[in-house]
Amino acid sequence: MVRSTYDNRNGYLNTQMIRENTKKQAYRRSVAGKPDAGGKPDLRGLTLPEISRIVEEMNEPAYRAGQITSWVYKKAVGSFEEMTNLSRSFRAELSDRTCLNPLTSVQRSKSRHGPTTKYLFELGDGQKVESVLIGGSRRNTLCISTQVGCAIGCRFCASGLEGLVRNMTTAEIVDQVVQVRKLAGDTRPINNIVVMGMGEPLANYRQVLRAVRIINADWGLGIGARKITLSTSGLVPKIYQLAEEKIQFELSVSLHAADDRTRTSIVPVNRRYPLKQLMKACRHYTGSTDRIITYEYVLLKGVNDRFQDAENLVKLLKKDKCKLNLIPYNPVHGLPYERPDEHRQAAFVEALQKGGLQLTMRRERGRDIDAACGQLRLAESRKALEG
Ligand code: SAH
Ligand code: SF4
Repeated sequence: MVRSTYDNRNGYLNTQMIRENTKKQAYRRSVAGKPDAGGKPDLRGLTLPEISRIVEEMNEPAYRAGQITSWVYKKAVGSFEEMTNLSRSFRAELSDRTCLNPLTSVQRSKSRHGPTTKYLFELGDGQKVESVLIGGSRRNTLCISTQVGCAIGCRFCASGLEGLVRNMTTAEIVDQVVQVRKLAGDTRPINNIVVMGMGEPLANYRQVLRAVRIINADWGLGIGARKITLSTSGLVPKIYQLAEEKIQFELSVSLHAADDRTRTSIVPVNRRYPLKQLMKACRHYTGSTDRIITYEYVLLKGVNDRFQDAENLVKLLKKDKCKLNLIPYNPVHGLPYERPDEHRQAAFVEALQKGGLQLTMRRERGRDIDAACGQLRLAESRKALEG
Protein backbone atom coordinates (compact mmCIF):
# COMPACT_ATOMS: atom_id res chain seq x y z
CA MET A 1 0.00 0.00 0.00
CA VAL A 2 1.33 3.42 -0.86
CA ARG A 3 0.28 6.01 1.64
CA SER A 4 -1.47 9.14 0.45
CA THR A 5 0.93 11.45 2.28
CA TYR A 6 3.44 10.72 -0.48
CA ASP A 7 1.06 11.84 -3.22
CA ASN A 8 1.25 15.25 -4.87
CA ARG A 9 4.39 16.21 -2.99
CA ASN A 10 6.92 16.08 -5.80
CA GLY A 11 9.06 14.06 -3.38
CA TYR A 12 11.79 12.08 -5.08
CA LEU A 13 11.26 8.82 -3.17
CA ASN A 14 10.04 6.38 -5.80
CA THR A 15 7.17 3.91 -5.39
CA GLN A 16 9.44 0.88 -4.96
CA MET A 17 11.39 2.59 -2.18
CA ILE A 18 8.14 3.54 -0.51
CA ARG A 19 6.80 -0.05 -0.67
CA GLU A 20 9.97 -1.43 0.91
CA ASN A 21 9.81 1.24 3.52
CA THR A 22 6.17 0.48 4.28
CA LYS A 23 6.97 -3.23 4.81
CA LYS A 24 9.75 -2.31 7.20
CA GLN A 25 7.42 0.09 8.96
CA ALA A 26 4.75 -2.60 9.46
CA TYR A 27 7.37 -4.81 11.13
CA ARG A 28 8.66 -1.98 13.24
CA ARG A 29 5.18 -1.02 14.34
CA SER A 30 4.70 -4.56 15.61
CA VAL A 31 7.67 -4.17 17.97
CA ALA A 32 7.02 -0.53 18.76
CA GLY A 33 6.50 0.73 22.25
CA LYS A 34 7.78 -2.40 23.98
CA PRO A 35 10.37 -1.29 26.54
CA ASP A 36 12.57 -4.33 25.92
CA ALA A 37 12.18 -7.92 24.77
CA GLY A 38 11.25 -9.03 28.29
CA GLY A 39 8.70 -6.24 28.71
CA LYS A 40 10.66 -4.59 31.52
CA PRO A 41 10.24 -0.82 31.86
CA ASP A 42 13.22 1.36 30.98
CA LEU A 43 14.50 3.24 34.04
CA ARG A 44 14.90 6.39 31.96
CA GLY A 45 11.14 6.62 31.51
CA LEU A 46 10.21 6.14 35.17
CA THR A 47 9.32 8.77 37.74
CA LEU A 48 10.71 8.91 41.28
CA PRO A 49 7.42 7.58 42.79
CA GLU A 50 7.46 4.67 40.31
CA ILE A 51 11.07 3.82 41.10
CA SER A 52 10.23 4.12 44.82
CA ARG A 53 7.51 1.50 44.39
CA ILE A 54 9.98 -0.90 42.75
CA VAL A 55 12.49 -0.29 45.58
CA GLU A 56 9.75 -0.94 48.14
CA GLU A 57 8.81 -4.22 46.42
CA MET A 58 12.46 -5.21 46.70
CA ASN A 59 12.37 -4.47 50.46
CA GLU A 60 15.18 -1.95 50.12
CA PRO A 61 15.38 1.38 52.00
CA ALA A 62 13.45 4.25 50.39
CA TYR A 63 16.56 6.40 49.78
CA ARG A 64 17.73 3.90 47.14
CA ALA A 65 15.16 5.37 44.73
CA GLY A 66 16.90 8.75 44.88
CA GLN A 67 20.25 7.09 44.29
CA ILE A 68 18.86 5.40 41.19
CA THR A 69 17.35 8.59 39.70
CA SER A 70 20.64 10.34 40.36
CA TRP A 71 22.59 7.67 38.44
CA VAL A 72 20.11 7.58 35.60
CA TYR A 73 19.24 11.26 35.11
CA LYS A 74 22.09 13.27 36.66
CA LYS A 75 25.08 11.02 36.02
CA ALA A 76 23.69 9.54 32.77
CA VAL A 77 25.10 6.05 33.34
CA GLY A 78 24.70 3.60 30.50
CA SER A 79 24.55 0.39 32.56
CA PHE A 80 23.62 -1.03 35.97
CA GLU A 81 27.29 -1.89 36.66
CA GLU A 82 28.15 1.80 36.80
CA MET A 83 25.83 2.37 39.80
CA THR A 84 28.70 1.75 42.18
CA ASN A 85 27.00 2.74 45.45
CA LEU A 86 24.44 -0.05 45.00
CA SER A 87 25.37 -3.60 45.98
CA ARG A 88 25.93 -6.18 43.27
CA SER A 89 22.90 -8.23 44.37
CA PHE A 90 20.68 -5.12 44.40
CA ARG A 91 21.84 -4.20 40.89
CA ALA A 92 21.15 -7.73 39.70
CA GLU A 93 17.62 -7.68 41.07
CA LEU A 94 17.03 -4.19 39.68
CA SER A 95 18.08 -5.39 36.24
CA ASP A 96 15.64 -8.29 36.54
CA ARG A 97 12.81 -5.82 37.03
CA THR A 98 13.89 -2.92 34.78
CA CYS A 99 16.15 -2.21 31.82
CA LEU A 100 18.45 0.58 30.71
CA ASN A 101 18.73 0.97 26.96
CA PRO A 102 20.38 4.28 26.09
CA LEU A 103 19.98 5.73 22.61
CA THR A 104 22.96 5.21 20.32
CA SER A 105 24.45 8.34 18.81
CA VAL A 106 25.06 7.55 15.13
CA GLN A 107 25.88 10.94 13.70
CA ARG A 108 26.83 14.37 14.94
CA SER A 109 27.05 17.38 12.61
CA LYS A 110 28.18 20.86 13.57
CA SER A 111 27.03 23.90 11.64
CA ARG A 112 29.73 26.03 9.99
CA HIS A 113 27.69 29.19 10.60
CA GLY A 114 27.17 29.05 14.33
CA PRO A 115 26.87 27.03 17.51
CA THR A 116 24.32 24.50 16.25
CA THR A 117 24.91 20.76 16.51
CA LYS A 118 22.59 18.11 15.21
CA TYR A 119 22.54 14.61 16.69
CA LEU A 120 21.08 11.56 14.99
CA PHE A 121 20.16 8.77 17.42
CA GLU A 122 19.29 5.14 16.78
CA LEU A 123 16.49 3.62 18.85
CA GLY A 124 16.31 0.00 20.03
CA ASP A 125 14.41 -1.14 16.91
CA GLY A 126 16.79 0.57 14.49
CA GLN A 127 14.62 3.65 13.86
CA LYS A 128 16.40 7.00 13.82
CA VAL A 129 15.42 10.32 15.35
CA GLU A 130 17.15 13.65 15.62
CA SER A 131 17.81 16.27 18.28
CA VAL A 132 19.33 19.70 17.66
CA LEU A 133 21.37 21.73 20.14
CA ILE A 134 21.23 25.44 19.39
CA GLY A 135 23.03 28.22 21.21
CA GLY A 136 26.23 29.52 22.68
CA SER A 137 28.10 28.95 25.90
CA ARG A 138 25.40 30.19 28.33
CA ARG A 139 21.99 29.78 26.73
CA ASN A 140 21.58 26.40 25.08
CA THR A 141 18.32 25.11 23.66
CA LEU A 142 17.80 21.48 22.81
CA CYS A 143 15.12 20.60 20.26
CA ILE A 144 13.81 17.06 20.81
CA SER A 145 11.68 14.60 18.82
CA THR A 146 8.57 12.81 20.06
CA GLN A 147 7.57 10.50 17.21
CA VAL A 148 9.34 8.59 14.45
CA GLY A 149 7.86 10.40 11.43
CA CYS A 150 4.60 12.31 11.74
CA ALA A 151 1.03 11.61 10.63
CA ILE A 152 0.04 15.26 10.18
CA GLY A 153 1.87 15.60 6.85
CA CYS A 154 2.38 19.37 6.61
CA ARG A 155 3.26 19.87 2.96
CA PHE A 156 6.55 21.70 3.55
CA CYS A 157 7.95 19.50 6.34
CA ALA A 158 10.50 16.68 6.04
CA SER A 159 9.17 14.88 9.15
CA GLY A 160 5.76 14.27 7.62
CA LEU A 161 7.15 12.81 4.38
CA GLU A 162 7.18 9.20 5.49
CA GLY A 163 3.98 9.37 7.52
CA LEU A 164 3.98 8.12 11.10
CA VAL A 165 6.17 5.12 11.87
CA ARG A 166 5.56 5.05 15.62
CA ASN A 167 5.29 7.01 18.82
CA MET A 168 8.45 7.35 20.89
CA THR A 169 8.40 6.01 24.43
CA THR A 170 8.88 8.23 27.48
CA ALA A 171 12.39 6.83 27.95
CA GLU A 172 13.35 7.57 24.33
CA ILE A 173 12.09 11.15 24.59
CA VAL A 174 13.88 11.81 27.91
CA ASP A 175 17.08 10.08 26.84
CA GLN A 176 17.70 12.62 24.06
CA VAL A 177 18.31 15.20 26.80
CA VAL A 178 20.40 12.79 28.89
CA GLN A 179 22.59 11.79 25.92
CA VAL A 180 23.09 15.28 24.47
CA ARG A 181 24.01 16.57 27.93
CA LYS A 182 26.64 13.87 28.12
CA LEU A 183 27.91 14.38 24.56
CA ALA A 184 27.94 18.20 24.68
CA GLY A 185 29.61 18.29 28.11
CA ASP A 186 29.68 21.01 30.76
CA THR A 187 30.74 23.74 28.32
CA ARG A 188 27.27 23.75 26.80
CA PRO A 189 24.76 23.21 29.60
CA ILE A 190 21.21 22.66 28.32
CA ASN A 191 18.87 25.20 29.89
CA ASN A 192 15.98 25.28 27.42
CA ILE A 193 13.99 22.48 25.82
CA VAL A 194 11.79 22.91 22.76
CA VAL A 195 9.62 19.96 21.81
CA MET A 196 9.82 20.91 18.14
CA GLY A 197 11.76 18.08 16.56
CA MET A 198 10.22 15.27 14.59
CA GLY A 199 6.60 14.44 15.38
CA GLU A 200 3.44 16.01 16.72
CA PRO A 201 3.89 16.03 20.52
CA LEU A 202 0.19 16.23 21.33
CA ALA A 203 -0.51 13.15 19.18
CA ASN A 204 1.74 11.22 21.60
CA TYR A 205 0.22 13.01 24.56
CA ARG A 206 0.72 10.58 27.44
CA GLN A 207 4.37 9.76 26.75
CA VAL A 208 5.25 13.38 26.02
CA LEU A 209 3.63 14.68 29.22
CA ARG A 210 5.40 12.01 31.27
CA ALA A 211 8.69 12.89 29.56
CA VAL A 212 8.46 16.66 30.12
CA ARG A 213 7.56 16.06 33.77
CA ILE A 214 10.73 13.96 34.18
CA ILE A 215 12.79 16.59 32.32
CA ASN A 216 11.34 19.23 34.68
CA ALA A 217 11.56 17.38 38.02
CA ASP A 218 14.31 18.20 40.52
CA TRP A 219 15.08 14.50 40.83
CA GLY A 220 15.07 14.27 37.00
CA LEU A 221 16.82 16.67 34.67
CA GLY A 222 15.86 19.79 36.64
CA ILE A 223 14.96 22.09 33.75
CA GLY A 224 12.38 24.75 34.74
CA ALA A 225 8.85 24.31 33.36
CA ARG A 226 8.96 27.80 31.84
CA LYS A 227 12.07 26.75 29.94
CA ILE A 228 10.21 23.88 28.28
CA THR A 229 8.11 24.62 25.18
CA LEU A 230 5.66 22.22 23.55
CA SER A 231 4.75 22.93 19.92
CA THR A 232 1.61 21.71 18.19
CA SER A 233 0.17 21.90 14.69
CA GLY A 234 -3.21 22.52 16.34
CA LEU A 235 -4.81 19.38 17.81
CA VAL A 236 -7.77 21.19 19.36
CA PRO A 237 -9.02 18.57 21.88
CA LYS A 238 -5.47 18.12 23.18
CA ILE A 239 -5.07 21.88 23.70
CA TYR A 240 -8.15 21.75 25.97
CA GLN A 241 -6.68 18.72 27.75
CA LEU A 242 -3.35 20.50 28.23
CA ALA A 243 -5.13 23.49 29.77
CA GLU A 244 -6.39 21.14 32.51
CA GLU A 245 -2.90 19.90 33.43
CA LYS A 246 -2.16 22.95 35.59
CA ILE A 247 1.50 23.04 34.65
CA GLN A 248 3.65 25.95 33.63
CA PHE A 249 5.05 24.65 30.34
CA GLU A 250 5.11 27.05 27.39
CA LEU A 251 2.91 26.37 24.36
CA SER A 252 3.62 27.20 20.71
CA VAL A 253 1.02 26.77 18.01
CA SER A 254 2.13 26.35 14.40
CA LEU A 255 -0.25 28.70 12.62
CA HIS A 256 1.46 29.28 9.23
CA ALA A 257 -1.63 30.92 7.69
CA ALA A 258 -4.46 33.13 8.84
CA ASP A 259 -7.19 31.94 6.47
CA ASP A 260 -8.60 28.41 6.27
CA ARG A 261 -7.98 27.91 2.55
CA THR A 262 -4.25 28.60 2.77
CA ARG A 263 -3.83 26.80 6.09
CA THR A 264 -5.61 23.64 4.90
CA SER A 265 -3.39 23.60 1.81
CA ILE A 266 -0.20 23.42 3.89
CA VAL A 267 -1.31 22.06 7.30
CA PRO A 268 -3.89 19.34 6.46
CA VAL A 269 -5.07 18.98 10.07
CA ASN A 270 -6.76 22.37 9.56
CA ARG A 271 -9.55 20.58 7.69
CA ARG A 272 -10.41 18.74 10.92
CA TYR A 273 -9.78 21.67 13.26
CA PRO A 274 -10.27 24.89 11.28
CA LEU A 275 -9.01 28.27 12.47
CA LYS A 276 -12.18 29.26 14.31
CA GLN A 277 -11.99 26.15 16.50
CA LEU A 278 -8.23 26.43 16.89
CA MET A 279 -8.34 30.07 18.00
CA LYS A 280 -11.17 29.32 20.42
CA ALA A 281 -9.08 26.55 21.99
CA CYS A 282 -6.00 28.80 22.17
CA ARG A 283 -7.98 31.61 23.82
CA HIS A 284 -9.41 29.12 26.30
CA TYR A 285 -5.87 27.92 27.04
CA THR A 286 -4.59 31.45 27.67
CA GLY A 287 -7.67 32.32 29.72
CA SER A 288 -7.49 29.33 31.99
CA THR A 289 -3.70 29.04 32.42
CA ASP A 290 -2.67 32.68 32.08
CA ARG A 291 0.11 31.44 29.80
CA ILE A 292 0.79 33.39 26.62
CA ILE A 293 0.86 31.30 23.43
CA THR A 294 3.53 31.81 20.78
CA TYR A 295 2.24 31.42 17.23
CA GLU A 296 4.79 30.05 14.78
CA TYR A 297 4.59 31.19 11.16
CA VAL A 298 6.92 29.61 8.58
CA LEU A 299 7.37 32.01 5.66
CA LEU A 300 6.83 30.22 2.35
CA LYS A 301 7.40 32.16 -0.85
CA GLY A 302 4.19 32.92 -2.75
CA VAL A 303 2.11 30.78 -0.38
CA ASN A 304 1.66 32.74 2.86
CA ASP A 305 3.94 35.78 2.50
CA ARG A 306 1.62 38.08 0.53
CA PHE A 307 0.36 41.44 1.75
CA GLN A 308 -3.12 39.92 2.08
CA ASP A 309 -1.67 37.21 4.37
CA ALA A 310 -0.14 39.86 6.62
CA GLU A 311 -3.48 41.67 6.76
CA ASN A 312 -5.31 38.46 7.65
CA LEU A 313 -2.77 37.73 10.36
CA VAL A 314 -3.19 41.17 11.90
CA LYS A 315 -6.98 40.73 11.88
CA LEU A 316 -6.72 37.28 13.47
CA LEU A 317 -4.26 38.11 16.26
CA LYS A 318 -4.48 41.82 17.02
CA LYS A 319 -6.83 41.45 19.99
CA ASP A 320 -4.99 38.48 21.50
CA LYS A 321 -2.39 38.42 24.25
CA CYS A 322 0.18 36.40 22.31
CA LYS A 323 3.59 36.30 20.67
CA LEU A 324 4.28 35.76 16.99
CA ASN A 325 7.44 34.10 15.72
CA LEU A 326 8.27 34.22 12.01
CA ILE A 327 10.51 31.46 10.65
CA PRO A 328 12.03 31.84 7.18
CA TYR A 329 11.51 28.44 5.52
CA ASN A 330 14.40 26.01 5.53
CA PRO A 331 14.10 24.34 2.10
CA VAL A 332 13.69 20.55 2.04
CA HIS A 333 15.21 18.63 -0.84
CA GLY A 334 12.46 17.29 -3.10
CA LEU A 335 9.72 19.62 -1.88
CA PRO A 336 8.50 22.52 -4.02
CA TYR A 337 8.57 25.26 -1.36
CA GLU A 338 11.00 28.17 -1.17
CA ARG A 339 11.99 30.81 1.32
CA PRO A 340 10.97 34.38 0.40
CA ASP A 341 13.89 36.73 -0.27
CA GLU A 342 15.04 39.25 2.37
CA HIS A 343 13.13 42.09 0.74
CA ARG A 344 9.87 40.17 0.84
CA GLN A 345 10.48 39.07 4.44
CA ALA A 346 11.10 42.69 5.46
CA ALA A 347 7.89 43.86 3.71
CA PHE A 348 5.90 41.18 5.53
CA VAL A 349 7.37 42.18 8.89
CA GLU A 350 6.64 45.84 8.19
CA ALA A 351 2.99 45.13 7.33
CA LEU A 352 2.57 43.20 10.59
CA GLN A 353 4.24 45.89 12.66
CA LYS A 354 2.09 48.60 11.07
CA GLY A 355 -0.90 46.51 12.07
CA GLY A 356 0.34 46.59 15.68
CA LEU A 357 1.63 43.00 16.06
CA GLN A 358 4.69 42.29 18.20
CA LEU A 359 6.89 39.69 16.57
CA THR A 360 10.24 38.00 16.49
CA MET A 361 12.06 36.44 13.56
CA ARG A 362 13.93 33.20 14.23
CA ARG A 363 17.52 33.60 13.09
CA GLU A 364 18.88 31.13 10.61
CA ARG A 365 20.96 28.47 12.23
CA GLY A 366 22.34 25.25 10.91
CA ARG A 367 20.93 25.37 7.40
CA ASP A 368 24.05 23.54 6.20
CA ILE A 369 23.36 20.57 8.48
CA ASP A 370 19.70 20.06 7.51
CA ALA A 371 18.65 21.57 10.82
CA ALA A 372 14.93 21.80 10.08
CA CYS A 373 12.98 19.03 11.72
CA GLY A 374 13.08 15.65 10.04
CA GLN A 375 15.68 16.55 7.45
CA LEU A 376 18.68 14.65 8.77
CA ARG A 377 16.69 11.46 9.31
CA LEU A 378 15.23 11.78 5.82
CA ALA A 379 18.67 12.23 4.28
CA GLU A 380 19.89 9.16 6.18
CA SER A 381 16.97 6.93 5.20
CA ARG A 382 17.36 7.96 1.55
CA LYS A 383 21.04 7.06 1.70
CA ALA A 384 20.16 3.68 3.22
CA LEU A 385 17.47 2.98 0.61
CA GLU A 386 19.81 3.93 -2.20
CA GLY A 387 22.18 1.31 -0.79
N1 SAH B 1 4.70 19.00 15.07
C1 SAH B 1 4.88 20.14 15.84
C2 SAH B 1 6.29 20.33 16.37
C3 SAH B 1 7.40 19.94 15.45
S1 SAH B 1 7.63 20.97 14.03
C4 SAH B 1 4.43 21.37 15.08
O1 SAH B 1 4.18 21.27 13.89
O2 SAH B 1 4.30 22.41 15.72
C5 SAH B 1 8.31 22.46 14.76
C6 SAH B 1 8.16 23.69 13.90
O3 SAH B 1 9.05 23.61 12.76
C7 SAH B 1 6.76 23.87 13.33
O4 SAH B 1 6.33 25.20 13.49
C8 SAH B 1 6.96 23.50 11.89
O5 SAH B 1 5.97 24.00 11.06
C9 SAH B 1 8.35 24.04 11.61
N2 SAH B 1 8.99 23.49 10.41
C10 SAH B 1 8.85 22.27 9.87
N3 SAH B 1 9.60 22.14 8.76
C11 SAH B 1 10.23 23.32 8.58
C12 SAH B 1 11.16 23.82 7.61
N4 SAH B 1 11.58 23.05 6.63
N5 SAH B 1 11.60 25.08 7.77
C13 SAH B 1 11.20 25.86 8.80
N6 SAH B 1 10.35 25.43 9.74
C14 SAH B 1 9.87 24.18 9.65
FE1 SF4 C 1 4.34 16.99 11.78
FE2 SF4 C 1 5.00 19.38 12.81
FE3 SF4 C 1 6.14 18.49 10.53
FE4 SF4 C 1 3.58 19.21 10.53
S1 SF4 C 1 5.35 20.53 10.92
S2 SF4 C 1 4.44 17.36 9.58
S3 SF4 C 1 2.94 18.52 12.54
S4 SF4 C 1 6.36 17.60 12.55
